[in-house]
Amino acid sequence: MIVVGGGIFGLAAATTLANRGWRVTVIDAGEIPNPLAASTDISKVVRMEYGTDHEYMALGEEAIDGWHVWNQEWTDAGRAPLYHETGVTMLCLRTMDEGGFEGDSFQTLRARGHAPERLGAEDISRRFPAWSTGRYVDGFFHARGGYVESGRVVTELARSLGSRPDVALVNGARVQTLVREGGRTVGVALEDGSVVRADMVVVAAGAWTAKLLPELVDVVRATGHPVFHLRPRDPSLFVPDCFPTFTADVARTGYYGFPLNRDGVVKIGVHAIGVPIDADAQRIVPGEEEDRLADFLSITFPALLDAPIVYRRLCLYADTPGEDFVIDRHPEDDGVVVASGGSGHGFKFGPALGRLIADAVEGNAASFGQKFAWRRTLHGEDVETTEAARCHDRIELK
Ligand SMILES: Cc1cc2nc3c(=O)[nH]c(=O)nc-3n(C[C@H](O)[C@H](O)[C@H](O)COP(=O)(O)OP(=O)(O)OC[C@H]3O[C@@H](n4cnc5c(N)ncnc54)[C@H](O)[C@@H]3O)c2cc1C
Repeated sequence: MIVVGGGIFGLAAATTLANRGWRVTVIDAGEIPNPLAASTDISKVVRMEYGTDHEYMALGEEAIDGWHVWNQEWTDAGRAPLYHETGVTMLCLRTMDEGGFEGDSFQTLRARGHAPERLGAEDISRRFPAWSTGRYVDGFFHARGGYVESGRVVTELARSLGSRPDVALVNGARVQTLVREGGRTVGVALEDGSVVRADMVVVAAGAWTAKLLPELVDVVRATGHPVFHLRPRDPSLFVPDCFPTFTADVARTGYYGFPLNRDGVVKIGVHAIGVPIDADAQRIVPGEEEDRLADFLSITFPALLDAPIVYRRLCLYADTPGEDFVIDRHPEDDGVVVASGGSGHGFKFGPALGRLIADAVEGNAASFGQKFAWRRTLHGEDVETTEAARCHDRIELK
């Protein structure tokens, strides 16, 4: 079994497949964790809130249980816990209404027996003083959820996989093409001309996926999205107890972020349409994104307006129509399974991804019906779905 890609999709798959008795070779073009990989960052949001979507919320519940199990395994091995259950605040500039992302998430959480706390403007100012007084007037805090140190998770998974006799990790080897015989994939050809044969290949190549599976070129597209690391002058306002992982009227502004981390940094990102880009092209954060960030900070976190930006990055989504992952067998080539399409929200499901991908390998991907099924081409409405879901015309923040 070959797994192409040492990000969270690939390493979660390799872990579960090896646990199920498969011999696995993971091949990555870079050194795992590859700095260019989407999985490699200081933090990723972990939440179960998905509006009215019970399937994603159920997967989120499973994943959060899984992060606790992984934390326990890491601490039992004398290593640091990497999932931080700070809770999540989802706040709104207007009253939270039905049909809105926050309002629907709140109702679905309660319908599933969770206990989110509704917050008004006064609660927000009292409990979370970094937020601009009186601008955010509604929302909720949910104690289950937080963030995970994604790059460190990838390092931990690679470390434990690398210590297993039934797993081989190959770093710094780019897969050039899949090798097919009689229409069936039987291995991969590397850039150095060598061929590695296997009975099955899992393509977990993130934003590069369509380069190996061109038939997905319209389905898994690389788009660039900025993240910023800021060093607050007054860190006390941004510690997790009073500044949990957050979304700030995300369907309208696109902004989300994290509490102060162990290095004294607050990370803020924006979940919007992004810029279409070739996965191997140079990655530059568009200048206007810094202006927009300043506008956002001026209405939301005035105490961060003079915080220096110590790092900025254009990170790539493997973006799909409607933002659902693609985890399925190839319809015409049963030597290949694709595991990709994280669409800016896949990392949080790390502890559950292995099961989904291994099930697809073993031919029982029924657990999620058509949601992650192989898709051929874009349909008009699919594009609109993604565009509508993401605040492509982000509101004026002045
Ligand atoms: C800005 C940004 C913010 C995000 N925020 C969140 C968040 O808060 N919460 C969340 O849950 N998710 C978030 N995500 C999404 C999440 O990061 C991704 O869904 C997830 O990390 C994708 O993992 P992956 O394994 O598919 O891809 P990657 O992590 O990109 O890994 C793919 C790997 O494949 C390798 N590869 C590619 N092509 C080849 C080849 N030909 N040969 C060999 N190796 C190859 C690459 O080197 C790379 O290491 C965010 C993503 C971005 C970009």
